Amino acid sequence: MVRKRRLRPGFAIERITVIPVGAVEAPLLDVLNNRLPEIFRKRVELGSPIEDPIYAHNKERGQYLAEAILLKLAQIRNLTRGRLLGVTEVDLYRQDGHGTFGHASRGRKVAVISIHRLRDEHYGLPGDPQKLQERVLKEAVQQIGHTYGVIGCSNPLCAMFDTPQLFDLDIKRPLLCSRCRRAIP
Ligand SMILES: [Zn+2]
Repeated sequence: MVRKRRLRPGFAIERITVIPVGAVEAPLLDVLNNRLPEIFRKRVELGSPIEDPIYAHNKERGQYLAEAILLKLAQIRNLTRGRLLGVTEVDLYRQDGHGTFGHASRGRKVAVISIHRLRDEHYGLPGDPQKLQERVLKEAVQQIGHTYGVIGCSNPLCAMFDTPQLFDLDIKRPLLCSRCRRAIP
């Protein structure tokens, strides 16, 4: 007789889903799919891409409102459960007016990251695919961490250390310090 293993309520469905918002290069999705499971100790799935976020476009700024994309992701998350991370090539800004690499909503359990300003090409430098993958991973870890309510780590090597500048982003590691790790269920 096979006995069914009892799982803690919610455990079986708790996972992180990564979905492209518009077209995203496969290696950037692969690095998330391959490395997020170990960092968060959760199941990670790649979801089907959703359309370009034209609903979030601000013509004057030439940028896209992160909160509008978070709202769209929240509608999808209701179907997937767990956490949902959107990955996009479009350039993001937040409601407070600042351009950003990424944004998250703890209440809605969704996050979005933008590759746009993580590319060296954006600053007139030659592209470095390896470095870009590391940056994408670090930004993803930080924003997913925010969906679990983790904020304000003071360890400059921890992925949860706030890094609005690329220089600081490049210094930190795509890992959680022990304090931040413990704060995530
Ligand atoms: Zn930390």
